[in-house]
Amino acid sequence: MRGTGEGSPRLQAAGQEMSRVMKAFLHRYSFALIVAACLFTLAHSTYKNHHNDQLGTCKSNLRALGLAMEMYSTDNSARYPDNFADLVPEYIDQIPQCPASTEASYILHLGPDAPWNDAGFSDYYYICCAGQNHLQAGVPKNLPATNSISDHHAPYHPQEDRS
Ligand SMILES: [Zn+2]
Repeated sequence: MRGTGEGSPRLQAAGQEMSRVMKAFLHRYSFALIVAACLFTLAHSTYKNHHNDQLGTCKSNLRALGLAMEMYSTDNSARYPDNFADLVPEYIDQIPQCPASTEASYILHLGPDAPWNDAGFSDYYYICCAGQNHLQAGVPKNLPATNSISDHHAPYHPQEDRS
């Protein structure tokens, strides 16, 4: 068992040469490596912030739509409009668009069969951001959403997608 655990002198020398080259490399390029790591971290957090900003805007769009629905209802014998177009321009200047979607993504569901209407209210609405617009912000598809029985000031995104 000659040489076990020792390695040949040639291999050892090669190993030492490798580690010397590595050390020299790290010594020479440590600054560049640190800068690269910082840039990567910065890019990653910018990417995350971008998706969180989009989600924040989407939620405030839903909040605005919900408030417009309530104002319409107040003026129309507690009845919600059949579509968003009825809200414009009296209750909202224009139908907002989700910044994470290239097309109109807000879907209006009405009545007892609408999602999250377990009590079966007939005067009920559910509005969601349809599609996979906020996956990168950790939000499942067809969310966030709001409805006529949630707190309009804090549109929720339920864990379970029922739309
Ligand atoms: Zn959205």
